[in-house]
Amino acid sequence: MNKKEIEVQGLKIILVKKRVRNIITKIKDGEVVVSAPYYVSQAEVINVIEGQQDWIKKALNKAKNKNTNAFLRYESGEKISFEGKEYTLYIVYNNKIKINKFAVDRSSLIIKIETPNVEDKEKIKTAIDKGFKKELKRRIDEFLPECEEITGQKVNFYTLRKMTTSWGLCHIKERDVVFSTQLARKNDEQLRYVIIHELTHLIEANHSSRFKEYMTKFMPDWRRIKRELNS
Ligand SMILES: [Zn+2]
Repeated sequence: MNKKEIEVQGLKIILVKKRVRNIITKIKDGEVVVSAPYYVSQAEVINVIEGQQDWIKKALNKAKNKNTNAFLRYESGEKISFEGKEYTLYIVYNNKIKINKFAVDRSSLIIKIETPNVEDKEKIKTAIDKGFKKELKRRIDEFLPECEEITGQKVNFYTLRKMTTSWGLCHIKERDVVFSTQLARKNDEQLRYVIIHELTHLIEANHSSRFKEYMTKFMPDWRRIKRELNS
């Protein structure tokens, strides 16, 4: 296998030559990874990528929307999406603390990380992930009772997990729900939609027409909210 970085029409592409039959384009951790057989020339690969440009850009945006943290360099001034709004990240040096401190200023749309080591991006990332998780938990605890009332369904407990392919999961038998930590970046309406969606699975396991009828009853505008959540 050999791997190199190329640029096609302003897009950064990681080109991997390996034993595959066809040229395969994938979005992985927010990056475009193209696998191609050894015998295919770079010009040929570029030609294929150019033909996929629109698709790649769309897929990249979608990935970015699902997992912005993959794109962050953890520097002051960077934009970070949180609770449905665009926040600015501030990394502030503070040698008086041992553990990085996370703070949200909702009126000025600022997320501040105080840290004794501004170079330690890994710890800054951890502080943000932890802070996001705590704020998400607070919002779920706030919305869950009203969503349970609306659906008439109660869960035994819920957990938060890092998931990028779905917003939530419902274990029907155990009556527990798993929410994606990525929901920290989504607005209240979208979070409520995911909660109601998972609770509705306690009535109807599949996304059947019956499921959709319940959704409409519980949340008349759910189709629009779902579209916005995934756009
Ligand atoms: Zn579902």
